[in-house]
Amino acid sequence: MNANTTKQIIAALNVKRVGIVGAGQLGRMLALAGYPLGLQCVFLDKSADAPGGQVSKILIGAFSDPEKLAQLAAQVDLLTYDVENVPVEALGDIPKHKTFLPPVTALAIGQDRLSEKGLFRALKIPTAKFRAVSSMPDLEQAIQEIGYPAVLKTRRLGYDGRGQRVICSSAELGSAFNALGGIAMILEEFIEFECEVSVIGVRNRRGDMAFYPIVENVHRDGILRYSIAPCADRKLQKPAENYARRVLRHFDYAGVLTIEFFVKKGRLIANETAPRVHNSGHWTIEGAVTSQFENHLRAILGLPLGDTSARGYAAMVNFIGSMPPVASVLEIPGAHYHDYGKQPRPGRKLGHATLVCATRRELLSRLKNFPDIAPR
Ligand code: AMP
Repeated sequence: MNANTTKQIIAALNVKRVGIVGAGQLGRMLALAGYPLGLQCVFLDKSADAPGGQVSKILIGAFSDPEKLAQLAAQVDLLTYDVENVPVEALGDIPKHKTFLPPVTALAIGQDRLSEKGLFRALKIPTAKFRAVSSMPDLEQAIQEIGYPAVLKTRRLGYDGRGQRVICSSAELGSAFNALGGIAMILEEFIEFECEVSVIGVRNRRGDMAFYPIVENVHRDGILRYSIAPCADRKLQKPAENYARRVLRHFDYAGVLTIEFFVKKGRLIANETAPRVHNSGHWTIEGAVTSQFENHLRAILGLPLGDTSARGYAAMVNFIGSMPPVASVLEIPGAHYHDYGKQPRPGRKLGHATLVCATRRELLSRLKNFPDIAPR
């Protein structure tokens, strides 16, 4: 162990309390991964019922409230977040006085689809054609250049398919623009993709990097339905890692970062990035040697990263709107059940299951036990 590593580890050992902005399921899984490392997590969330509250203390308040953010910062040694929509302005000077990771610059870019696409372009990462749109004349001009079909998306606060419309003809232009509120938007080329994949990379404060095997993701209505890891097409691993490495280095990043891609004719086209742990990485809890949650904490604390290898073949199935009975899932060999403790509501992610098997064939066969998904 060199002197530098020792210094990093001593610094990390002084971190006992981690503040997490947002107490959703991602925060809850981070807090659970923090226990064996001797960490206590404190959340900031406007809801006392948020999933994180079942495992750690929640400071009640909005992410946009600078005073609450300052109160959280005062209670902890280091800050991180489980949501992307923490307003950067509300953080003010906090990141100057308290370690805040992943870096605010990455958080800011991830909040704006236009800046994100601009960054991909600057780093020579392929994306769909895109144009900024802030008025109907802009949209009319942009559609001339991009063509039909195209996807109109709000630049900010769009997730899980919200804040976007597919436009197939000129008759739909006005209604799509108005439905999205006539605010700042981006028009993208519609990609006829063969499949969607994501890469999850992690970089620690020393600059060490590691990448999980890339994941195949199947969405329905814009929401992730299920993921399979590792992705069958192993040739995509290297380019995905190269792209993720560029983004991690660009931000002098620490923590977990995800990039989602479309795959068309065997090539990756970047759709978006998330500067945090990601739904498509939940399989790593049981399906990888070190989970994305543990690795995120190791990375932001400045600790050595854990092995990102898969322990076989894994699938993650989201439970959306309702939870199946626990016994019906656990009777499937290799299955694990995660209930986030949320109130059921249509379209809401309430939990997930992970299946871990020795072969891909066995995995696909056992996935048939989940009646409302249809693996290829
Ligand atoms: P997003 O909110 O950008 O992650 O989009 C949610 C989902 O909508 C994606 O995972 C795709 O399934 C679909 N989608 C988004 N943008 C496009 C696009 N430009 N072309 C085709 N499908 C898209």
